[in-house]
Amino acid sequence: MKDFNLIINGKSIAATNYFDVINPADKSVVARCPKASVEQLNDAVAAAKAAFPDWSALTYAERRDKLMQLADAVEAHGKDIMTLLTKEQGKPMKGFADLGSGFELNGALAWIRGTASMELTPETIQDNDVARIELHRKPLGVVGSITPWNYPLLIGVWHIIPALLTGNTVVMKPSEMTPLTILYFGEIAKEILPKGVLNVVTGAGDIGAAISSHEDIRKVVFTGSTPTGKAIMRSAADNLKRLTLELGGNDAGIVLADADIDACAPKIFATSFINNGQTCAALKRLYVHESVHDQLCKALTNIATSMKTGNGFDEDTDFGPLQNQEQLNIVKALAEDAKDRGANFLCGGKVSNDNGYFYPITLVNDINDGSRLVDEEQFGPILPIIKFSNVEDAIVSANRLQVGLGGSVWSKDLEKAQIIASRLECGTVWINNHAMVQPDAPFGGVKDSGFGVEFGEAGLKEYTSIQTVQIFKS
Ligand code: ADP
Repeated sequence: MKDFNLIINGKSIAATNYFDVINPADKSVVARCPKASVEQLNDAVAAAKAAFPDWSALTYAERRDKLMQLADAVEAHGKDIMTLLTKEQGKPMKGFADLGSGFELNGALAWIRGTASMELTPETIQDNDVARIELHRKPLGVVGSITPWNYPLLIGVWHIIPALLTGNTVVMKPSEMTPLTILYFGEIAKEILPKGVLNVVTGAGDIGAAISSHEDIRKVVFTGSTPTGKAIMRSAADNLKRLTLELGGNDAGIVLADADIDACAPKIFATSFINNGQTCAALKRLYVHESVHDQLCKALTNIATSMKTGNGFDEDTDFGPLQNQEQLNIVKALAEDAKDRGANFLCGGKVSNDNGYFYPITLVNDINDGSRLVDEEQFGPILPIIKFSNVEDAIVSANRLQVGLGGSVWSKDLEKAQIIASRLECGTVWINNHAMVQPDAPFGGVKDSGFGVEFGEAGLKEYTSIQTVQIFKS
């Protein structure tokens, strides 16, 4: 594989320092990654600032044209991108229900094209003999994007495409665990976008912190953990940066007595274990009415025990490894706590391959609120199943944590399900599904899961400020 470079002002720039990127399936080194210095970050911000006047002066149609070209170029390099994703992130090329690297690539393409098709147009508030008052949306300037390691390409696209479409320029920093796909994406983009419009720097939290405190960056969009989100908010205060913070969740799903278990089970399985559970809005706590509990546990166990966890390049692999040792340690610790409390493991729970960061698909019942596995975000392939007899108790359980990203209610009675769903404290509620997102439907959290939304018109507006234009006619 070729060398990787930073992308600054339309050029590939080498670094003086490097760090290794590890393949989580076998702990081998995938590649050396350049480590940006603070001076290089400053160069990137200066380039983005210099590129802003011309880029923001283009029409939506002109910027859309560039972004559509970018989508085509990414698609043309699709195989390489998928290979890199599987190498550095661990997800299978194909995987269970085709939710592997191909899914991430296709999602990224759908999001680039779907988002680039949108537009914010001025609104007229008043138009009479006295005055016309219009509301215009203006880009903010340089946007900093800081991304996590679970969907390196897709979340990068979620951040940068609405920023670019609305006329901002961008400095992005991928996770130090999975930086290579975005560096490659940056190489592709630099052939299409004007210089300085999209810059990519790499490094760990120190470079992230330098972005969030940088006086020439007007906004930071961040997807990652709640503690890091809070740190970013603190250091963004000095120049009153705007923020979109998409932070952790611990989504509850509530299965009512009248749910169609045969229809629900495959969807509950898929949306709990998507990306090996390493998904912000995966279903992470499953509350099931006692009358259908045993039937659902059996159906989920049947699916789970037919799954193969392994190297993502093997064609029959359903799920890959966890992305890193630290995340594996968290999953193991939560499982140990559940065992110590006498929970029942329906399947999984034992590591059989430690050549990589593997953990099997694991289902745990006879467990209650207060266990670490229920109360803390596992972000891995282990799902607690909690039995309830009164739905009011399940609603209290769903809402009792500080996080509020998503939630779901499963029932044949859509009206009743919607009434319950409206009582869940979270940014998205699904009925008879979970974790589904699309380019035109806003997505974001409440409480400690953050604020601001991504996607749709509401998501585009987050990258703009309002300018009210008051035209008095005489
Ligand atoms: P995780 O621990 O799961 O990697 P983080 O929220 O720490 O989740 O990381 C997400 C992203 O935030 C990564 O790109 C990381 O480098 C970056 N990051 C970590 N610490 C900071 C910080 N203090 N300020 C800004 N970005 C940070």
